[in-house]
Amino acid sequence: MLSVLSRLSWLFLPPLILLLAIFQGYWLFEPDISAWLSRHSWLTPAALGLALMVALQFSRSRLVYTCGLLLLYVPVVAAWLPQIDQFERHRLYFFMLLLSYFMFSRDIGFAITNAAKTMGIVLLIGLISIFALPALEPYAYQLSRNIFSQSLPNALFPLAPSAHLTYLLSIILSIVNLGRLVFRPDNNHNALLFVFMTTLAMYWLPESGLHQLLLIFIALLVAYAIIKDSFTMAFKDELTTIPSRRAFMQYIQTLGRNYTVVMSDIDHFKKFNDTHGHDVGDEVLKLVASKLNKVTGGGKAFRFGGEEFVIVFPGKTSSQAEPFVEIVRRAIQDYDIALRTVPRPVKPPKQKSQSPAKNKIVKVTTSFGIAQRTKTSHTFEQVIKQADLALYAAKKAGRNCIKLAKQ
Ligand code: GH3
Ligand code: MG
Ligand code: MG
Repeated sequence: MLSVLSRLSWLFLPPLILLLAIFQGYWLFEPDISAWLSRHSWLTPAALGLALMVALQFSRSRLVYTCGLLLLYVPVVAAWLPQIDQFERHRLYFFMLLLSYFMFSRDIGFAITNAAKTMGIVLLIGLISIFALPALEPYAYQLSRNIFSQSLPNALFPLAPSAHLTYLLSIILSIVNLGRLVFRPDNNHNALLFVFMTTLAMYWLPESGLHQLLLIFIALLVAYAIIKDSFTMAFKDELTTIPSRRAFMQYIQTLGRNYTVVMSDIDHFKKFNDTHGHDVGDEVLKLVASKLNKVTGGGKAFRFGGEEFVIVFPGKTSSQAEPFVEIVRRAIQDYDIALRTVPRPVKPPKQKSQSPAKNKIVKVTTSFGIAQRTKTSHTFEQVIKQADLALYAAKKAGRNCIKLAKQ
């Protein structure tokens, strides 16, 4: 729970701070900023066009369509008709529904059938926004009258009747999309949610200069989200999702003079694969990685390659790090891995099986070699070499144990 919250705040806070800074900057420097923007009306389409190109380069089709559709909207506010700065409600319906659809779909690329499918859905959402939703507005008005007329008469009823549906949809879809981000916190969903919120802001604050700034913000955010996503992918191991060897190579540059390196290797893993299959082996690798990733004492775990992992303890000696490694060694040794003895059925059975599928319990163990930086082994390669020798000693000593390098 805590890790989801911290991950969410890492995703959510940087763009939120930028958005707030944009609002503050706009109100501080108005009307100068609007005057400047109207003289440089090319800036908004240029920024969105650039973001579209980045999205295209990385095959993020949902973001390509989002930028493309916002580009179609731009000329109306920015260049051709600067005096018409209304982000009218049909457009709001359209963007709200489209972005919510994107939040719940995948990047399906631009193959002809997939592009046709997306175009069809865009068209359908357009028709719903122009014809179906306005027809529902009187009912939404009636509904909110029935619900709120006693409790909140003055607060709500100066609103135009059509605004009730806008409010209702904005609130419902905001909650749904925020929930989606909580369950699938990734950079793309974060960008889409911010575009969603920005389009809401554009509707409620009909000011042309602000719209241009917000569209530039969207363009920056889209490009930032894609680049951040690519970095995250490059530095994360695909199978185990813990930091990869590339992240390790970068991390070692940041270490000071004192640190300890732990090399670890799963015991008899080849035999495990041969007995239970490569797929089960992959699941066990994920499990071992998750245990290593929970190491305490300031250690940071990486997948070194194959079934080998490395933990780095900055500012610690070998003997200071050892108790934390021992906790991980025990956690792996004590874990009961339940294997399904019956293969998972392709289709779920119609009725619940009378006898539940029996699980076979297996175990894996891991050996560890620890070395610290010393005067004689002061380069990183030398420390790793020492940790590797210690690991070899742990294997020779019967495995499932920790050995410290003789330094
Ligand atoms: P030891 O106790 O001496 O370490 O024995 P071992 O069998 O673990 O040693 P060895 O290095 O000979 O075997 C490593 C095995 O790890 C070989 C390979 O099948 C398996 N392996 C490496 N990477 C992966 C992977 O990504 N997935 C799976 N399932 N197996 C992997
Ligand atoms: Mg090995
Ligand atoms: Mg091994």
